[in-house]
Amino acid sequence: MKRRVPMHIKIIISLLLGVGVGVALNLLWSAQSWSAIGVGDKAAYLAREASEANANAGFAAAGVKFLIEGCDFLGKLFIRALRFIAVPIVLFSLVAGAASLGDVRKLGRIGGKTLLIFLVMTSLSIVLGIGLTRTIKPGDYVSDASREELMAQFAEQAAQSAAAGETRAKAISAWDQILHIVPINPFAALATAEMIQVVALAIAVGAALTLLPIERSRRVTEMCETMTEVMTIIVNTVMRMAPLAVFALIAPIIATTGLDVLRALGVYVAVVVTGLATMSLVAYPVALWLATPADNRMTFTRFYRGMAPAQLLAFSSSSSNATLPVNMQCARRLGVPDDIVSFVLPLGATMNMNGTAMYQSVVAVFLAQFYNIDLTLGDQAMIVLTATLVSIGSAGIPGASIVLMIVVLQSINVPPQGIAIILGMDRLLDMCRTVVNTGGDAMTAVMIAASEKRLAPAGGERAENGDQR
Ligand code: ASP
Repeated sequence: MKRRVPMHIKIIISLLLGVGVGVALNLLWSAQSWSAIGVGDKAAYLAREASEANANAGFAAAGVKFLIEGCDFLGKLFIRALRFIAVPIVLFSLVAGAASLGDVRKLGRIGGKTLLIFLVMTSLSIVLGIGLTRTIKPGDYVSDASREELMAQFAEQAAQSAAAGETRAKAISAWDQILHIVPINPFAALATAEMIQVVALAIAVGAALTLLPIERSRRVTEMCETMTEVMTIIVNTVMRMAPLAVFALIAPIIATTGLDVLRALGVYVAVVVTGLATMSLVAYPVALWLATPADNRMTFTRFYRGMAPAQLLAFSSSSSNATLPVNMQCARRLGVPDDIVSFVLPLGATMNMNGTAMYQSVVAVFLAQFYNIDLTLGDQAMIVLTATLVSIGSAGIPGASIVLMIVVLQSINVPPQGIAIILGMDRLLDMCRTVVNTGGDAMTAVMIAASEKRLAPAGGERAENGDQR
């Protein structure tokens, strides 16, 4: 019988291929050859215009251009398809999840525990980020020349982010943030994909359903469950193109990330990656070890073997929302029961972003080092507070948190133009932080299932409808 290659292996292969092609393009093509095919400067290749030079471009150049445009198209198609599912799946699965928890008290208990784990892990990430950055001082490793260059290269983009952030920042005082959770018009929230409001709507409806007599509520709950299954089938279909799409997403990013930027910011990148890796490879496994019983331990290998497809997708898509449906499948496969998966993961994709919180704190301290701003204990407390708020307020889409970075920077009086320094590396680090964001949600779901004594034993995990294997 022919053995099918598991999905995550296919994704790893295409990821590696994408990295290889990206590196080759990055090394082989000079700035001139990029502009000769109408790709302006490398970093801004997406904003390409059909230039006269295109007509003169040689065969190889036309080939590369086709590859880039093809990648761009495929990557966008894949992300659009996954994002298209995000709102309905959060709505239907959370209504079904909250309703099937059975009674409001149980909902409150599980909700309380979930929020507590979210908060503890987010604070841990931030404190770790601050500690690492203060100890290693990446700010000291960037030369004045690189700093000037980066400021000049990314000034415009930084100004755009700062302006967008300024508008959002106004709505992000703690009070306003809480007010923002309650939708004035739930249908508008659905239409504009205001995830946190969709979450509020779904929990309110799910909780209210538990108060209705079961014979009345059952029809709605079943409809929501069925719709979640329908969405899952769509996800499984979309995921068939994952290996191709992952290649398409990664190759252009690597091809267009300036090696000089990476060299200039090497230590800073290393600090962010070390912090994120510590969360994923140490904090999560330790928390899971402690939370699960000896006869049903969620070991490192058990967790990451089950989570591989979701973690790889998070890395390639840089989007918690796009990863949510696959994350839900993986969590079920780890043995978390349906109602807990449907409740914890959509909530987590919206509110729980440990990687983002860590990133915010590292950037804040790093930029403070640049501007020679001494951070008092009060400043550091401000970073903890604002980075937590920002991680809750960021949407689960690529680059979401960079816009809100201004909130954290303003709280410690670091000039927002400083964002220019880190922008060149943002996309690659976004991929890494999204892995930590989504892993944290699945970890929480497992911990909740274990605390409710409902985690299925290892090997007893159910295979999902249309499983990706
Ligand atoms: N891309 C991240 C996510 O989707 C959010 C961010 O930090 O920009 O989880």
